[in-house]
This record gives sequence, structure tokens and C-alpha cells, in this order.
Amino acid sequence: MISDICVLCPYGLDAGLLTKAVALANGAPVRAFVPKVEADTAATFGATYVHALTNVPRDENSLVTWLKEKISQYGCRIVLAPASIQLRNLMPMLAWELQSGLTADCTDLTEKDGSILQTRPAFGNSLVATIKTLSAVQMATVRPGTFPALPCPCDNAQVTEEIIAAPDGRITVIATETGMEAAPLNHARVIIAGGAGIGSREGFEKLEAIAKKLGGAVAASRNAVDAGFAPYRYQVGMTGVTVAPKLYIAVGISGAVQHLAGMSGSEKIIAINTDPKAPIFDYADYGIVADWETVSNKLLEELS
Ligand SMILES: Cc1cc2nc3c(=O)[nH]c(=O)nc-3n(C[C@H](O)[C@H](O)[C@H](O)COP(=O)(O)OP(=O)(O)OC[C@H]3O[C@@H](n4cnc5c(N)ncnc54)[C@H](O)[C@@H]3O)c2cc1C
Repeated sequence: MISDICVLCPYGLDAGLLTKAVALANGAPVRAFVPKVEADTAATFGATYVHALTNVPRDENSLVTWLKEKISQYGCRIVLAPASIQLRNLMPMLAWELQSGLTADCTDLTEKDGSILQTRPAFGNSLVATIKTLSAVQMATVRPGTFPALPCPCDNAQVTEEIIAAPDGRITVIATETGMEAAPLNHARVIIAGGAGIGSREGFEKLEAIAKKLGGAVAASRNAVDAGFAPYRYQVGMTGVTVAPKLYIAVGISGAVQHLAGMSGSEKIIAINTDPKAPIFDYADYGIVADWETVSNKLLEELS
């Protein structure tokens, strides 16, 4: 059990991270800071105290001052946030203000003796390190999509409205455009991912057709992206996005550790590969040793 966990999602709820926080707390209260429009959703995912925010300043400097006060006021010991672009900026500033250790871009969080152990790639991604920060407040950011979002049966959340009276910052938002972070991969329940074994951009079009029939999204390994078969925003892995769908179909992907880091949280994994010794089969729930195109044609036929 970990007490005094606080989840900071001032720009948008990360339901997977909140689910993980609730699991780590194991019955102890969890506090969540979310936009007012997502307060009810935060309650559905198990937050005990929901701070429903309005007037969230885009200028991280102004928000840091406000959050520092709240964290001190509520005695938060563990502060978690999604590693979104804005919070990647904000969390180091907040850590400095709180004189706390911060582990950025974690790929897992576990509990030990009432503290959190933070797992993340280290030394150019050649090692996976488990880190325990020794400061009074432990802080971590986690890549969006790392943990599956599971609604909680509890419905006793206490919601407090908070209007942030932060001073005007130096940033004025002129327009908002959807970028990589809104890529459908993070939310897809089914992902069909292609690797170098697909061999061409046209091959990926076949994967797109299967994904469409399954109501899912297409992803890619780094080698497939480097070869120009798919755009970078499709890349799953240590240097791409992290996903945790219900079903991940790895097609023509060998299963390198850097790829696994981005998809091993998938509920079920199916691998299709001509090489029976491909490492991906060690992680797959179902394996098909065959040419990807033969299997894909059959699958498309069945789905039609
Ligand atoms: C610092 C660093 C960061 C990295 N980050 C990432 C990352 O974020 N994501 C990532 O994916 N990788 C990443 N990599 C690269 C990673 O190490 C692997 O090189 C990469 O994942 C391999 O991609 P692949 O499986 O598509 O290609 P390969 O390893 O070349 O595998 C291709 C597979 O296709 C199979 N195949 C061939 N033909 C067919 C066919 N006709 N039908 C079925 N199967 C077939 C082969 O048997 C083989 O297993 C990173 C590497 C480093 C050093």
C-alpha cells in the first residue's frame, strides 16, 4: 500500500496512469488534478479526491507555483504525471521547487515498502534501470499509453472545484493543432504492427486494410520506419510510442528488446514471422510461422 499519491493531469486525464496509481495505493486514497470536464471520468477510474480544474494556465511557470502549494497543502509524497509535451516541461520545474527527485519517461512503476520503484531505459536505452528516489517527495512521469485504463467499481470520489487564479504568463495560445500525441495508437484496442519483414510501403497498405476491418490502428517497428514503409508517428518502442491494446498483432517483427519495451503491456500478442526462432515468439500468446502476406490474404478473406 502507498499513501499520499497524487496524479497530475491538468491538461487532460491519463486514465491508464490513474488506474496504475489506484493499484499502487491498494486502498489508500489517491488524489487527481484534472480539467473540470474530466472530473467525473477521474472518479470512474478510482480517484478518491478529484480536483476539478478550470482556468488552467498554458504557461507552465504559473501552474508550477499553484501546484507546489497544493502538493505541500495535501502532503503528497508521490507525484505522478503523464510524460506529455507540457508536463515534460512542467515536472522538472516542479521538482526543483519541491527539491525532489524526478524520474522521467518511466515504463513501469512498482511498490516497495511504501515507496515507488521507477523503471526506465538508461544509458542510451542499452539498460533498463530501476530507480528509487530518496527525496521526501518522489516524482515520476510515465509515457502515455503505458498502462491499460481500467474503470473502478468504487464511486465515493470527493470532487472539489478549483479555479486557478494564476498570474498571466508569457504564453498566449493562438491555435491548437492535433499532433503526434493524439495519434490513435495510444487509444487503439487492436493494433496490427508491421516490421522490416513487410518489405514495402504497399505491404503496409494491406495492414491498413486489416486494421480497418478490425476497427484498429497500424503501428510499425523502427526498422520499418527507417526503411520508409511507415511514418515515424507509427513507431512503437523505446524511441516511439508505448501502447497497451487488448490485441497486438506483430507482423514481420523480430521482437528486439527496444520494440518490446513499447508493446509488452499488450493484453494478447499474436506474432506472424517466417523465422520460428524469432524472439517475438517468446512473448506471443499465439504464434504463426508463415509468410506474412499469405496469412494476411487469408485473414482479409475471412474478415470480408
Ligand atoms: C537506441 C535504440 C532505440 C531503438 N528504438 C526502437 C523502437 O522504438 N522501436 C523499434 O521497433 N525498434 C527500436 N530499435 C531498433 C531495434 O533494436 C530493432 O533493430 C528493430 O526493432 C527491428 O525491427 P524489425 O523487427 O522490424 O526488423 P528485423 O529485426 O530485421 O526483423 C524482421 C523480421 O521479419 C521477419 N520476416 C522477414 N520476411 C518475412 C515474411 N515474408 N513474413 C513474415 N516475417 C518475415 C524476419 O524473420 C525477422 O524476424 C532501437 C534500437 C536502438 C539501438
